[in-house]
Amino acid sequence: MAKYWNKPMETAKLHEMRALQSWRLSQTVRRVYENVPFYRDKMDAAGVKPDDIRGTEDLYRLPFVSKQDLRDTYPYGMFAVPMEDVVRLHASSGTTGKQIVVGYTRSDLDVWSECCARALTAAGGSKSDFMHVSYGYGLFTGGLGMHDGAEKVGMTVIPVSVGNTNRQISIIKDFGSTVICCTPSYALFLAETMQEMGITKDDIKLRAGLFGAEPWTEEMRREIEDKLGLKAYDIYGLTEIIGPGVSFECDEQTGMHINEDHFIVETINPDTGEVLPEGEQGEIVFTCITKEAFPIIRYRTRDIGILSRKECSCGRTLVKMLKPRGRSDDMLIIRGVNVFPSQVESVLLSFGDNAPYYQLIVERVNNLDTLEIKVEMTSSMFSDAVRNIEEHEAAIRNAVESALGIAAKITLVEPKTLTRFEGKAVRVIDNRKLHD
Ligand code: ADP
Ligand code: ZN
Repeated sequence: MAKYWNKPMETAKLHEMRALQSWRLSQTVRRVYENVPFYRDKMDAAGVKPDDIRGTEDLYRLPFVSKQDLRDTYPYGMFAVPMEDVVRLHASSGTTGKQIVVGYTRSDLDVWSECCARALTAAGGSKSDFMHVSYGYGLFTGGLGMHDGAEKVGMTVIPVSVGNTNRQISIIKDFGSTVICCTPSYALFLAETMQEMGITKDDIKLRAGLFGAEPWTEEMRREIEDKLGLKAYDIYGLTEIIGPGVSFECDEQTGMHINEDHFIVETINPDTGEVLPEGEQGEIVFTCITKEAFPIIRYRTRDIGILSRKECSCGRTLVKMLKPRGRSDDMLIIRGVNVFPSQVESVLLSFGDNAPYYQLIVERVNNLDTLEIKVEMTSSMFSDAVRNIEEHEAAIRNAVESALGIAAKITLVEPKTLTRFEGKAVRVIDNRKLHD
């Protein structure tokens, strides 16, 4: 089985990669300057001309692009080719506000499927696999992105999309799916449904899963692996850059390799915009250097991460990004304390006997923020005496308080009462915004 999809690129020496990036960057900057008024105006205002950008070392001179810029130029203001050359549109799922639209030329679709093919190969995928795609098909990039990548690899693609979970399980079983991709929260829901249907992991053939599109924890990874009987790989991407496949895990699973021949990555201090040395935590910024229709420059993802160039046992030299804990705009500030839902998840999962279904509800009562965490009980806990439930709530309360540094009300709720998600999970209800 091939270990790499594109060995020369995945194992290139750093100076070779930099040379390629530099050339591609200078070409891209010239193109956007000539074709996109937004970039011309921004660069003129910053006093930078395309000739000033000769290589990656000049990148810092270019202005950043924010999600707001994409909203301001909605729908096609950032496109760098005539619409006749655009063969596909996608849109962000709009998790954090008005959706944005991106476009792809035929060559862009090729770049994208190449990136996904690398991810699938790194997870051990090959021609002989049956690829079950349970990401949503449609404007969301997950479904079609992974679909095209899997076809490129030559896998037998099963384009199931989201929904009808019982039917999904039957298909996994009857069609003999060996690799699956979906959100990690949906993977857990599939596992739960499978159990209800009386099907065990020995009845199915799944052996690898690529899960992404939302943050997830190591504990969740173990739970998915255990319940579905597969090895779970992380995959990262965002619509603005290309979709899934911007970065992907190898067998070492200590971060996701970034497809650097297509995307230059930087980490910056989110408050000052200052570029940080590799290894320091900061906001991840990407520059597309091979895309034609939507070549975004220095895009601030609002994802917080760390880059690492430590040698990887898989042989890839592509820089790795450590799992983002969440986006800076997923971060809640509760009574002045920064809280990521993923921290709560880690605490809950450390209890082991909790199915990881939970919801954070933030309110403002008399100018004071309150946090309530609803946690779904497992069936075995539910049958326990009430006293045990109270003890359990107290134990979780203490653990949450010491992990987050703020107090929270813990409410255990009956099994299967919290909403299940087929796409990205929505775990936070922030009622404070309603009163602003
Ligand atoms: P939207 O912005 O509307 O949610 P996207 O599908 O483009 O639509 O979402 C991309 C975002 O999803 C990323 O910026 C990141 O915050 C999150 N994300 C994607 N993959 C992962 C992953 N493997 N781990 C953590 N977060 C992820
Ligand atoms: Zn590796």
